[in-house]
Amino acid sequence: MRFSWYKRPAMSAAYEDLRTRLAEIADLSRVIGLLFWDQRTMMPPTAAPARAEQLATLNRITHERFVSEEIGRLLEEARPEEESLEYESVEASHIRVARRDYEKARRVPPELRAEMVRTAALALPAWEQARRASDFSAFLPHLERTLELRRKYVACFDKADEDYDILLDDYEPGMKTAEVRAVFDILKRELTPLVAAVAEHAEAVDDSCLAGPFPAAGQKAFEMKVLDAFGFTPESWRIDETVHPFASNGGIGDIRLTTRYREHELSVFASMHEFGHGLYEHGIAPELERTLLCRGVSLGLHESQSRMWENLVGRSRSFWRHFFPALRQEFPSLAGVDAEGFYRAVNKIEPSPIRIEADEVTYNMHIILRFELEQELLAGSLAPADVPEAWNAKMAEYLGIEVPDIADGVLQDMHWAGGHVGYFSTYTLGNVISVQIWERLKLDLPDVDERIEAGDFAALREWLRERLHRLGRMFTPKETLERVVGGPLDPGPYVAYLKAKADDLYGLSA
Ligand code: ZN
Repeated sequence: MRFSWYKRPAMSAAYEDLRTRLAEIADLSRVIGLLFWDQRTMMPPTAAPARAEQLATLNRITHERFVSEEIGRLLEEARPEEESLEYESVEASHIRVARRDYEKARRVPPELRAEMVRTAALALPAWEQARRASDFSAFLPHLERTLELRRKYVACFDKADEDYDILLDDYEPGMKTAEVRAVFDILKRELTPLVAAVAEHAEAVDDSCLAGPFPAAGQKAFEMKVLDAFGFTPESWRIDETVHPFASNGGIGDIRLTTRYREHELSVFASMHEFGHGLYEHGIAPELERTLLCRGVSLGLHESQSRMWENLVGRSRSFWRHFFPALRQEFPSLAGVDAEGFYRAVNKIEPSPIRIEADEVTYNMHIILRFELEQELLAGSLAPADVPEAWNAKMAEYLGIEVPDIADGVLQDMHWAGGHVGYFSTYTLGNVISVQIWERLKLDLPDVDERIEAGDFAALREWLRERLHRLGRMFTPKETLERVVGGPLDPGPYVAYLKAKADDLYGLSA
């Protein structure tokens, strides 16, 4: 499919030179992604040290090529041409986005960049060990060092309204901390009483059928049935096993999902989630391949797509009306359950200490807690040594639960060890955006529930591609959201969706 407005204009030699150089950068980034995919799926363990060197070398070469004086000169030469082109053109977008990336990349000295990589390489195994031993003190020096480097990173940029803005910008370009805070304050205000109200009616939903066992063979068979119906084709997609599932891609026609099979966990939810990420990358306009525009525009928009397939589709009543018979066929343990009972079970709302196991409602409280602690840590108003206490206090306040073990408390996520401070909020932004997009698409596809119940996902997939996926990074995340839903970020539809669902499951208004 081509852009309706797309006709490749005659461009200057400077632009063509720039485009060729950026295509090489794009190629190198894909190769790095494939090495990383291989590392997590196929690679034998003793290859790890050599692979780490290969990745470091390729990362360094890619970065050096990108921040070269030559690219800077070509970007300057292309400026008048960019201004003469329509804002919406592929070429103007490419120059604009490349310039933004270039200016950001140039701000950070290579020594600091190398130090951040080194620190994360040490912090990740230290975190794994600390988690296994439930020993925060073993991770503490790494957290302190990470925060110190994050502050140095912030100092590389012009002063923002808040320091945290600069970290957030790497994951959700253009988003301000104050905007996220405003959305999160609404969620906190609306969802805290909802969680409490649900707790009063906890017995209304029985999820004992989710205990399994679910042998791997049955899981694989069922998962493929779902993914096939969604649009997974062996020509462009693959799925392999890994420890922590993720989606990766070597190009528009090379989408790689990963999954894992455990006896007491249905893999299909994680696989639907990763499918959403994969479909986004698969739907980018072919004209954008081998440019810097050929990626999802932000983590929040990306997560809106994974959450949509996992939750709005995969935890809907219509979905299970269609797929539950096939699931029950695979697993004798589900013999006494029907589609409605299963739908209720997979939507049970119940506070738990672990983020990745949380339901749709309580999940956001986990994120808000991290978002608040990160800001205090960055500002220095919370000492890293005091994080466990602050964490546990917020868990009690927001979810009414006690953290049984620090491994399932502050040590549960790898993000901080990897140097990712500012990342978490994009998960909840994704939830919020997913429902905004869903409400908009229902105007064009009012029978989307009936289609899902019939196992027909083609129209949904096409709508998403036409409206969102094909754009890649041509526009900013805000411009992209505006184009898709016709307005700015708004938690209203998401709150209404969660309330209606909780009401339906727990009969709260009765
Ligand atoms: Zn995701």
